[in-house]
Amino acid sequence: MSLSLIGKSISASATLKLNETAAILKAKGEPIIHLGGGEPKSKAPLDAIIAAVALINSGEVRYTPADGVPALKQAIIRYTEDFYGRRVTPQNVIASSGAKQAIMVALQAIVNPQEEVVFPAPYWVSYPEMVKLCGGVPVPVLPEDGSFYPTLRDIEQVVTSYTKAIIINSPNNPTGAMYSEQFIAEIVEFCEKRDLYLIMDDIYHRLIFDGRKPISCYKYAKNQTETSKLIVVNGASKQYAMTGFRIGWAVANKQLISVMTNIQGHQTSGPSAVTQLATVGALNGLQSSVDSLRMTLENNRNVMVERLRAFDGVRVSKPDGTFYCFADFRHYEKNSTKLANLLLDKVRVATMPGIEFGLDGHLRLSTCGTIKDITEGIERIKWALDPNSPNELYIGQRKLVRDWL
Ligand code: PMP
Repeated sequence: MSLSLIGKSISASATLKLNETAAILKAKGEPIIHLGGGEPKSKAPLDAIIAAVALINSGEVRYTPADGVPALKQAIIRYTEDFYGRRVTPQNVIASSGAKQAIMVALQAIVNPQEEVVFPAPYWVSYPEMVKLCGGVPVPVLPEDGSFYPTLRDIEQVVTSYTKAIIINSPNNPTGAMYSEQFIAEIVEFCEKRDLYLIMDDIYHRLIFDGRKPISCYKYAKNQTETSKLIVVNGASKQYAMTGFRIGWAVANKQLISVMTNIQGHQTSGPSAVTQLATVGALNGLQSSVDSLRMTLENNRNVMVERLRAFDGVRVSKPDGTFYCFADFRHYEKNSTKLANLLLDKVRVATMPGIEFGLDGHLRLSTCGTIKDITEGIERIKWALDPNSPNELYIGQRKLVRDWL
């Protein structure tokens, strides 16, 4: 079949495949524990629901401006002032169908074929594919010291004359690492000096633990004018548990936002009117659901880390935020896809293979479920991998016998 070069270059997501297999098994009544998910289980804020339902009830659900309705832009402007201490205008803001589309149209607006986009590894699975969709070249960079915290030196070493942009995601999916204020300051300064675009993917910036506070990259920007190449991305999905609403946004210079709006206008005509209004409700409404989600996730993280640390062959660094733990299972198995498949097959626990995020031998474990999911899930994993655990395990009435070690 004659397919495009770009189309053929985009890989199927093993993550989606694993999710699919887990869903099929669950539908068949299998006792699946899902530690693979990337979305909170709590409900969307009531203010979001009320606003969305009010528009639906009016029966007048129309096209909106491609870059978002004025009320949403105003809410994003206020959010930017509250969390970033930065005053922007409506022309500096675009609302998109998820932070995913905001990043995608930003890349389409700035990346030429063969230009490179640098980002630290492990990385969110979509960055490489999005860069490839623009005809660009993804350049992931693993921290040299083996940690999940990149240094400016790590980044500098891979920046060339082909580099067009750097993407920073902190706190990070999949590691949960929140980069230091010093690193953010350095990277902002470096990008300004080298005239590079800097995309800050801040989608998890309020889901941080141990008393941490969100960091504003603008604090370190010397260029506060309309020539700034800083692009700040955020959204409703994670902090408000509104993944299915599909609203995210970007804040950047007016010219770039206008190009992004042109691109988005031809792609989707802009995000759904209903969910834009829901996001206005969430942003302007009571914020207690964000605090309660953060506290639940912090507690879940503590339980997950404690359980994993009781597990001899697993190494784990404590996540600073997000709802992921990226644990090192190399002692048991270096091939993370094989390991994730084994765990799903033998003990019905869904996890995400680290290779998908650019680092094999690790599994991404989600803390979005209940404490019972976490404790039971890790107990099953331990039983499946640890030769010192008893030979048998009961899942409900079912007796499993370990015959693969
Ligand atoms: N960035 C990161 C790092 C993410 O993990 C995700 C969601 N998995 C997104 C962006 C996209 O979020 P959404 O499109 O749902 O707003």
